Parts: sequence; C-alpha cells; structure tokens
Amino acid sequence: MVENELCHLKGIDKSYFIDYINKLSIKQNALVREQKDGKWYYYCTKCQKWHKDVKFNVKTHKKCPYCKHKYKVITKRNIIPKYEDYITVLEKNERNELIIRLFYFRRIYDKHFMNFQIACIEVERINFDRNIYMKMNTYSNMGYITHGLNGRINRDNCYNGYYGGLKKYGDIYPYNNVITKNIKRLLKDTEYKYSCLDIVARNKLDIHDYLYVYKKYSKLELLVKNRNFNLIKDIIDQRGIPPELEESNNLKYLKWNLNLKEFKNACFFKLNNLRDIRIYACLDSLERCQAIENLNSNIDKAVHYVFSQKRDLIFYRDYLTIAKDIGYDMKNNNVLYPKDLLKAHDDAVMNYTKNKDKIINEKFNKRYMKLKKFEFHKNHFVIFPVMDPIELVIESQVLKHCVRTYVDGVADGKTNIFFVRKDENIRKPFVTVEMNEGVVIQARGYRNNIENPLEENVKNFINEWCKKFNFKSCFN
Ligand SMILES: [Zn+2]
Repeated sequence: MVENELCHLKGIDKSYFIDYINKLSIKQNALVREQKDGKWYYYCTKCQKWHKDVKFNVKTHKKCPYCKHKYKVITKRNIIPKYEDYITVLEKNERNELIIRLFYFRRIYDKHFMNFQIACIEVERINFDRNIYMKMNTYSNMGYITHGLNGRINRDNCYNGYYGGLKKYGDIYPYNNVITKNIKRLLKDTEYKYSCLDIVARNKLDIHDYLYVYKKYSKLELLVKNRNFNLIKDIIDQRGIPPELEESNNLKYLKWNLNLKEFKNACFFKLNNLRDIRIYACLDSLERCQAIENLNSNIDKAVHYVFSQKRDLIFYRDYLTIAKDIGYDMKNNNVLYPKDLLKAHDDAVMNYTKNKDKIINEKFNKRYMKLKKFEFHKNHFVIFPVMDPIELVIESQVLKHCVRTYVDGVADGKTNIFFVRKDENIRKPFVTVEMNEGVVIQARGYRNNIENPLEENVKNFINEWCKKFNFKSCFN
C-alpha cells in the first residue's frame, strides 16, 4: 500500500528544475566566436545575446558584457562536454512522512542552435520514515520494487542485487543538490522538524546520509547549529558518531570547524590551540609516528619542529635514519633539530654516499660476527656467512647469478647469505645459500642450477647443517 502510494506520486515537470539546472551548470557555458567583414562577434550561450569585441583566441577566457561572466571562447564547430548531475526534491505524504525524490539530469550542447538541451528523469524515491527505497528501472520506469526478506525495500539489498559487492549507502546516489526553498515549512509536522535540514541542504551536504545518522543520533543537529560542517561531513561519510563526541570534555573543540581527524587528534593529544591541531593533522599514521619515535623519543617536539621546517614527517624520518647510519650523535639537539632541515638532510645524504662503502662494510662485519657461530664443516663441505660485500660480487660473477643485489638486504639484516664451499678449495665459489629467520629460502649453484641440478651430497650437507642449528631446510 505504502509502496503503491510511492509509485503514484505526482510527476514533476522538468520546467520546475530548469532554473536550478542552469545555475548548477553555469560553468558549462561558452562564448561562440564568429567573424564577419573582418569583425569579431561573440554569442554568449548563457544570456543568448551577440556582442562585438576585438579578437580573442579560441580557448582563452573572455567576459560577456551582459551577464559579466567569464567564459571560454569557442568556434561554431566546437562542442562543449555534457554536464550531468542529480537534484533532490523533498516532499511529505499525508501522514507527514518524509519523501525524498532524486532526479538525474543531463545538459547537452547543440552546436547547430548554440543552446543546451536538458534531459531529466526521476531515478529514486524514498519513503524515509519507512525505509522504503524505490528505484527507476529501464524497463518499467519508476515503480520497480525489489523486496528484501522482511518485505521491505532496503537500499542495501537493491544495491547488492544490482552491482554485487558491498558499498555504503552514500556511494549509490548523491543527495547534495537539494531544492532548498520551503524546507523548514515542509518539515514542520514531521519527525525532522528539529533536524536543521535546511542548513544542511544549503551547505551542500548529502541530506540522505545526514538524516540517516540523525535518526540514530539527533544531537547531530547541534553540530549543524554550531556550523561544524567539516566534522558533520566526515561523520555522515562514515555513518557513525565518534566516541570522543560523547565526552563533555571534548566539546570545547567544537569551537573550531575541525574535520574528524583533526577533532580526534585534538581529543587524543589534548591539544588546546588551532595551530597544534593543524600540525598534528600531518601525522598520518601511528606507524610513521613510531618509526620516528625510535629515533627521537620526543614525538611532540619533533612534530612541531617538522611543521616549523615546512617538511613532512617522512622527510624527517629519512633524515634521522641516515643521520643514525652515519653515526651522528642521536642525543645531540643539533642533530635532532637542525636549524635548516633541508640542508642537514642533503648534507647527511652526501655524507652517506661518500661513506657508504665504509658504512656497509661495518654493517657486514657486524652481521658476520653475529652469524659466525653457524659455521659448519662436514663431509668435505664447509658453510660460513658472508664477511664482506665484495664477496657477494665475486660469488655472482663466478656462479653467474644475482646474489650481488643482496648487499643492502644483508647489510640491514633483512636476510642472510651463507657460502657453501668444498674444503679442498675454500676460496672458490660453489653454492650460495639464503637464510632468513631460521629458514633456508634458496640454495643456488652455477647459473642457478638450470643446467646442472644440485648434487645430492650438497643437499644432504645443507640438511645436516639445518638439523644441527634447528633451521628449516628447503630440501625436505
Ligand atoms: Zn552573457
């Protein structure tokens, strides 16, 4: 019955929308240039009048003397891309339930007549109080209804049925161009009389999503009165109220028009001025924060410093990482907060490149000392960890594989390389083993063993090595 009622709403003629559509698409207009007897004439598609002027090149912008708008100059042969959008109309039925109607329109330029054709069609009707969503359907036009399990039409069901996959409500249609006249009077006898929907609509927020959250959390209206539009926008996008809003302590932050992230930061870090809040907004993730914290424990001071240097946290983290690698004193304030971060960063990078060999050698040496205990000798084979980066290069050259690209990985301890050699000639590259967190990942001989597979006795040796130190072999 209610559905039937929704089916038979009075149609709305497109003339009702024309002014509104022209306003929405005002930037689509252009000045059509024509030359007659050596003079230049321009036709404004908005005010539909000709005027004379000096020559303006095509694609430049020029002002129309009548409507005072600046538009792009085109020729009669040019086309203008179509403009499409949605318009929302609010109504109520005889039981004072809110009806939301959505119209799609398309404004298309006709270069022959130098004017626009407007097509407009209703695509969705909602009885918001009863949660009934009716969609336009290409076959039966308005009036196609899908029933959910409970006999009601649910927007989620519709959407899943049409496109498959879960999407949030708001992804389906935008409800942010609302015909705003008389909204207050319309809502007078409805559930939404205190919703401040007129303000929401005038500020181009999505009224469907707003009402959806408002139904569960009527205090949202206070945020509207307080003009916290950035916060409302994020809240209705996420369809949930942040728990921080329930704490009266945090309400003081509503004096600024913060977005959700800024608001959450303000609550979490107990910030008390707008500048700090903006600074903390550049903290993108906790992870990044922690990466810096490992190098500089005073994260608060660090964030302020980075902000004052007009850099971001990643840049600062990179600088600190390099500074530590070169062996700077990480407790020295001149290192942690250089006067010119950019210069300090560049100096550090140059220093690093100059000393890279030395740094890498030191790192290799450290790794070697750590892994030395896994040296092993049995059945005429030995295995031992790499000691020097040059060994990886030689191993690669002799065995014709790519272990030389592992230099950085080994230096940073991300992986470990061991050499298997015959004990009769311990210097001659034979088989290369990569071991990571107790697991042998690969063992490669000449040309990656493509022509000659590894011999069984070599595999057995690696297995025995693994057994002795409780590693996991790749040959089981
Ligand atoms: Zn004009």
